[in-house]
Amino acid sequence: MEPNGFGLVWRGVSMSQPTYVVGHQQPDTDSITAAISYARLKQQQGRNAVAARAGEINPETAFVLDRWAREPPAHLESGRDKQLILVDHNEYSQAVEGANAATVTEVLDHHRIGDLTTSEPIHFYTEPVGSTATLVFEQYAAADVELDSQTAGLLLSGLLSDTVVCRSPTTTEKDRVAAEELAAIAGVEQEAYGKELLAEKSKLGEKSPREMVVADFKAFEFGDSHVGIGQIETVDPDQVLSQQAAVLAAMDELVEERGFDLLVLLVTDLLAEESTALLAGSKTDVVAAAFETTINDRTVSLSGVMSRKKQVVPPLEKALTAE
Ligand code: MN
Ligand code: MN
Repeated sequence: MEPNGFGLVWRGVSMSQPTYVVGHQQPDTDSITAAISYARLKQQQGRNAVAARAGEINPETAFVLDRWAREPPAHLESGRDKQLILVDHNEYSQAVEGANAATVTEVLDHHRIGDLTTSEPIHFYTEPVGSTATLVFEQYAAADVELDSQTAGLLLSGLLSDTVVCRSPTTTEKDRVAAEELAAIAGVEQEAYGKELLAEKSKLGEKSPREMVVADFKAFEFGDSHVGIGQIETVDPDQVLSQQAAVLAAMDELVEERGFDLLVLLVTDLLAEESTALLAGSKTDVVAAAFETTINDRTVSLSGVMSRKKQVVPPLEKALTAE
């Protein structure tokens, strides 16, 4: 390390400026718990790392933070001119505002590779596992840094939330191993704690139809198409489907405002392991083609579909880029 007139730098990373560890917009439990836990690991290694979030904390995550007695990370309004470690995402369309004008020094993720470009070489760790928490767990082991029970509880929560208590088809052997060890360190029983989490995830409370659509929402560019995919994971899908007309109207509004060609809301029944997709936009026909099914009343039933990332994004992207 040597001074270069701009302070101490190491491979383009300023050591005096903080590095923000941040997950995606509309953060979920995996994004928040990975940011907190990975920032802690970096701190233990002497880095000036700060856990951050790119949006509001959802009720499930609030439950988790309370359960493991941790404060929510600081809200990062903009990534512009900051140093960032991206966790649980790697696409600009999902990142904190201004991320394309940030210095991304590292990525730790379990999603498809998007459009990230950098001017310097960076650490880029991605693996098709069930949660970013699993990868953070492995980074602790690789660095030989001990996990305290609270951090283990946070990571277990991210893991069980993303994998629907290891039931989602995204779940791998690595996730099962990590979940077992994390539950032991945290001192909880995995299935019982997982069920508590699912119940929290299913609480829609006083949410308006609009809030239901955007609570867990991701935007994608597939070819020339601007696509939004929201997901509601619940043990009681009728809570949403009984308000179908109002939810579709809220989706139409969002299409209008944000120029989506296709908007999909997955209502995922966690117990039946299937989803109902509600559709809006001018390109809804592509959903019928992608899933070889028919659309009834702007909905399709997707038997066995639980994962947006693994079972919905790839066929939609394929259908829309083949146009
Ligand atoms: Mn996530
Ligand atoms: Mn995740």
